[in-house]
Amino acid sequence: AAAPARAATRRHAAATLSIRSEISYVMIKPDGVQRGLVGEIIGRFERKGFKLVALKLFQCPKQVSGGVAVGGGVCCNCLDIAEEHYKDLSSKPFFGALVEYILSGPVVCMVWEGAGVVKSARKLIGATNPLEAEPGTIRGDLAVQARGRQPAWLCPLKWPLVGRNVVHGSDSAENGERETALWFGKDALVSWEPALAPWLIE
Ligand code: ADP
Repeated sequence: AAAPARAATRRHAAATLSIRSEISYVMIKPDGVQRGLVGEIIGRFERKGFKLVALKLFQCPKQVSGGVAVGGGVCCNCLDIAEEHYKDLSSKPFFGALVEYILSGPVVCMVWEGAGVVKSARKLIGATNPLEAEPGTIRGDLAVQARGRQPAWLCPLKWPLVGRNVVHGSDSAENGERETALWFGKDALVSWEPALAPWLIE
């Protein structure tokens, strides 16, 4: 009776090892928090079977001097984090507005772990433009924005605005690590073994 038990333990250990292989930084953006979608979004990742290893509600502290908001009211440290987070988009005309937007209200920062979690999380989240995102995805089900609320002639940008798309997910394993370090610092991940691992991974 001991041998099958040992084999099961080995399988469990292997499964545990394999689900440690990758992390994705997922962030519910200010629109998702304001719309009360936090539980819904976390639930989709939980139900998929990924492991939550870090979670926090974060709000940029307002920079105030003499009762007046300075620097757009945004703290320098947070500005650095948000600019670094979106550094690949720094040449885009919407970069400033995007960074300002991401710091405009509370966001939910989380890290999900599991084999293939980066690609899978991107599938769960759906296409950048909510109107192009497939039904069944978070953006496809829960977001609509295709262009600004301003009339087109008032909008200086030539392409559709897609900022209100509820959630962010890392686009590569490297960025999963980088963004996690950025928003959580080092060693912030909780190490735990899901009791359901043997039921999720063969
Ligand atoms: P994704 O979030 O799907 O990885 P990108 O990396 O291309 O997409 O863009 C990052 C974020 O920048 C988007 O989720 C969206 O919030 C914002 N963004 C992208 N394109 C635009 C745009 N044309 N106008 C405004 N915001 C945009």
